[in-house]
Amino acid sequence: SDHNLKYPTCPEEMDWSIHYPAFFPSAKSSNPADEPSNRPVLDTSTPSRPENQSAQLTPTAPHPTIADVGCGFGGLLIALAPLFPNSLILGLELRHQVLSYVHSRITALRSQNPLRPQPESSSSPQTETPTNGTAPEANPMTTTHYANISALRTNTMKFLPQLLPRASLTHLFLCFPDPHFKARKHKARIVSAQLNAEYAYFLKPGVGKIYTITDVEELHGWIVRHFEGHEAGEVKELFERVGEEELEGDECVRVMREETEEGKKVTRNGGRKFVGVWRRKKDPDWE
Ligand code: SAM
Repeated sequence: SDHNLKYPTCPEEMDWSIHYPAFFPSAKSSNPADEPSNRPVLDTSTPSRPENQSAQLTPTAPHPTIADVGCGFGGLLIALAPLFPNSLILGLELRHQVLSYVHSRITALRSQNPLRPQPESSSSPQTETPTNGTAPEANPMTTTHYANISALRTNTMKFLPQLLPRASLTHLFLCFPDPHFKARKHKARIVSAQLNAEYAYFLKPGVGKIYTITDVEELHGWIVRHFEGHEAGEVKELFERVGEEELEGDECVRVMREETEEGKKVTRNGGRKFVGVWRRKKDPDWE
């Protein structure tokens, strides 16, 4: 139950060095793959902040910029690792045993793919660190050490604001969420007016995107209606739908279709997959 979940009182208290020791110069790690001499370069692009915003809203320490809500067995995290080698990617999962499995998978991958010392001629051999705040372009030749992925146990419907700072995410994934068919269970769906406003809070305005995929057409319809503000009392102006043309070249769409455990299952069963992606609109108060 949620009583057993551990979470900080605010994102500034969160110690991400435990999850991504290779990215934190002073962190100690028991995994030789995370040795300081082998540390990768982090995409440190943090949200810009208006002068009048309080300092505590600004994430200063490295923090995850990509989140997979309800990550299950971690297939998406592992597929995203080489696509965004300089970003911290976080899976959030409710079930204890599933999370333990994800941790074992990541530990094994890190041991099998240790970090190597960087060549002196290059400050960031894995990929160019972007200067415009967006994530790096996909590079299939990138060597992956899996130092940039981790997962933690939480109930995302309750505790996300304690974990992640405002405007900190470039990508938020909701892949094959439980459909909750019965009407009385709809409040457990992870797309709703209240949660959408919360997701908007975490996404970087003008940049951050929410990726959704499901094999349940009725749930897809529900998701679309809620993001497009067709349900009563919703805040339509927070998101704009990303068009098909832009999605065709988007590696994130490919991996969520092909690399999630649920996506693979649907493929095996010959089912359909429904995708929707929304970008957080610019926020004049944040520019
Ligand atoms: N995203 C994975 C995939 O596509 O393979 C797993 C999909 S599985 C159907 C849904 C996952 O969401 C389950 O692992 C479940 O435990 C998790 N989940 C459901 N509600 C959650 C919540 N409130 N917070 C965190 N995880 C949740």
